[in-house]
Amino acid sequence: MTIAANLGYPRIGPRRELKTALEAFWAGRITEAELHAAAAGIRAGARARQQGLGISHVPSGDFALYDHVLETACALAAIPEGYGWSGEGPASLATLFALARGARGSEAERAAGIPRGAVALEMTKWFDTNYHYLVPRLSARMRFRLLENRWAAAFREGAGQGARTRPVLLGPVSFLLLSKREDGGHPLELLPALLPAYAEALRALAEDGVAWVQMDEPCLVTDLPAGAADAYARAYRALAEAAPGLGVMLATYFGGLGDALALACALPVAGLHLDLARAPEQLGPVLDALPRDRWLSLGLVDGRNVWRADLRRALALLRQAAGAGFARRLMVAPSCSLLHVPHSLAPEDGLDPTLRRRLAFADEKLREVALLARAADEGEEAIAAALAESDAVLAEARADARLHDPAVAARLAAVTPEMERRRSPYPARAERQAARLRLPPLPVTSIGSFPQTAEVRALRARLARGELDEAGYEAEIRRLTAEAVRWQEEIGVDMLVHGEFERNDMVKYFAERLAGFAFTRHGWVQSYGSRCVAPPIIWADVSRPAPMTVRWSSYAQSLTQRPMKGMLTGPVTMLQWSFARTDIPRETICRQIALAIRDEVQELEAAGIPAIQIDEPAFREGLPLRRAERPDYLRWAVACFRLAAAGVRDETQIHTHMCYSEFNDIIEHIAAMDADVISIETARSDMELLRAFQDFDYPNAIGPGVWDIHSPRVPSAEEMAALLRRAAGRLPAGRLWANPDCGLKTRGWEEVRPAMANLVAAARRLRAELGPESVADGRGRPEA
Ligand code: GLN
Ligand code: ZN
Repeated sequence: MTIAANLGYPRIGPRRELKTALEAFWAGRITEAELHAAAAGIRAGARARQQGLGISHVPSGDFALYDHVLETACALAAIPEGYGWSGEGPASLATLFALARGARGSEAERAAGIPRGAVALEMTKWFDTNYHYLVPRLSARMRFRLLENRWAAAFREGAGQGARTRPVLLGPVSFLLLSKREDGGHPLELLPALLPAYAEALRALAEDGVAWVQMDEPCLVTDLPAGAADAYARAYRALAEAAPGLGVMLATYFGGLGDALALACALPVAGLHLDLARAPEQLGPVLDALPRDRWLSLGLVDGRNVWRADLRRALALLRQAAGAGFARRLMVAPSCSLLHVPHSLAPEDGLDPTLRRRLAFADEKLREVALLARAADEGEEAIAAALAESDAVLAEARADARLHDPAVAARLAAVTPEMERRRSPYPARAERQAARLRLPPLPVTSIGSFPQTAEVRALRARLARGELDEAGYEAEIRRLTAEAVRWQEEIGVDMLVHGEFERNDMVKYFAERLAGFAFTRHGWVQSYGSRCVAPPIIWADVSRPAPMTVRWSSYAQSLTQRPMKGMLTGPVTMLQWSFARTDIPRETICRQIALAIRDEVQELEAAGIPAIQIDEPAFREGLPLRRAERPDYLRWAVACFRLAAAGVRDETQIHTHMCYSEFNDIIEHIAAMDADVISIETARSDMELLRAFQDFDYPNAIGPGVWDIHSPRVPSAEEMAALLRRAAGRLPAGRLWANPDCGLKTRGWEEVRPAMANLVAAARRLRAELGPESVADGRGRPEA
């Protein structure tokens, strides 16, 4: 019998129940027991829905309170010192959340012995998704062992409620490759020490009567570092010996196996899962290489997008595998965990009905999985109606004239290379900008947003409910903007921002003002911890019917003599943080958005806005996982940014912002974007990221984030001054800016007010230390 399987289900809950519970717990409104009860309720609901949809391998252990990588590390005793863990027994919730969010001096932290200054682990993108995981910090001193078998607990929880689930573990090699060593050395060196902990977990699962476990090894689809192939062979040999009766489904996803295909096919596991949405071409070679005693799990339904599957095409792949001798050892599954798509289309009654028919969220995708498994066993006729519907909807989509706007095509065709180039090179621009802006050395700015307080959200809710009219809403937002401008002047910020009070979300705000986008009501996807986003859906050609931000920026600028920075979201990020259509290349979609943003940039300039920030926080996550595919992406992504930015005069300063990026391998391309100023994340990695900018000799100005805003801790002036001092030791002080790591919308004013004031104080201290001559030059090259 073909098995309908799932690799992972959204964790946040159909109504974001996990977010609600976490935030209530952090605020002290619910107890630990209540948090666990809420989480158990979400898991029970998830199991019931998956079973109801016809999935027989329902995953367990895929849930996490904050992040599955962090929970894996904690379960395996990979817990760094300084977070209150005694060295024995499971990590407390206080330790878990201190690792995730940094300490903020709460009662629970004091009780758990967590020092006030404990900073959160580094957070980074999970492969090329918008999910963020916490990077485990490992060292050879750690004694890895199973502190708590979270997978057995998850299995038992399901079994107790009548669901025999398939526990999901992050495999040992990917776990190590996703970690960092705090004592130098390569994480893979720790494999021998780590394996016994995994072996113990698997043995216990086998004893519990678990038939299958899923071992996620997504690193198998990336370019493997030296030693990884041996590590895989060694790890899976050891695990097979540890729990011989246990069926290990080795799950690979986010791409094709490429060079690792022979390796993966030879590992002593019971089954192999393939991502056939991203890499359908790997099926043939795998069918040639995979021993016939293995199970083959076909990831036929795209777990990374919201479009309905082409059932007929999926069936063809399924038949190909069945015909090659795997007919009795087949599983059908989504390509990857469904963590990356919203729960269900069911509550989405606001969508255009023709568009809605083309969509499939997690639950609808699982229905497709079950249909395909059924067709594999009972033949096409068994799902004839579903197949006919799939064909009809796809045909309708292909014929939909609304997808194509001839005016957009004409504009794209008319783009010239000059449109992607600023008039003068950076040094000349910097001089003109310095003369116009007259900023002090180490100018203080922020990344754009200020706290989206309950007050701001209530205004938007009242507007949506019709209790407040457009004019009343605007008046209130203007008041908040004016207050923010006044406050920034008072504390001495040098380049101001308007605060983005009018925006709900940096992508959605623009998407709502552009043609070609559609929106869900409940389409939430976890970004990190309790943070979710509801990505818009790009379903047609993108264009800008009218200015989007000019009124707000002009208003804010009218309130102050100091320079106001306009604030836009860049084309790459707009694309990356949306669910995009698949009928045209991503490059084309991105260029369409770039032209729309370009118009906005030029209009801001015309309105007298002297600096414009084009945020590209998603620039790096768009990078293909395989090195060989990167140059092409970087070519068009850089070109799209430049197309958006380069329509302005030299005097207009273009900023960009990126967060949580590792820059080392793409620094030249970041430089090629040619923004006058870039603000980046660095606080959490202790300025480590600056090394890229130093080694490469980054030519333009940089604002290294000196305040980790993803943590609720308020950094002191000394702390930020120390970071700025380190930055000034590595980079020309004349091209340095002082700013937080990211926007401040998730923080409260009680944090933002003191922290920004501390930042101003830190910048002033550094200015005094460095003296005027090291920094006064607008181009910022220190004579040395
Ligand atoms: N300008 C945005 C803000 O401040 C940038 C957010 C981001 O980088 N994610 O909110
Ligand atoms: Zn950011």
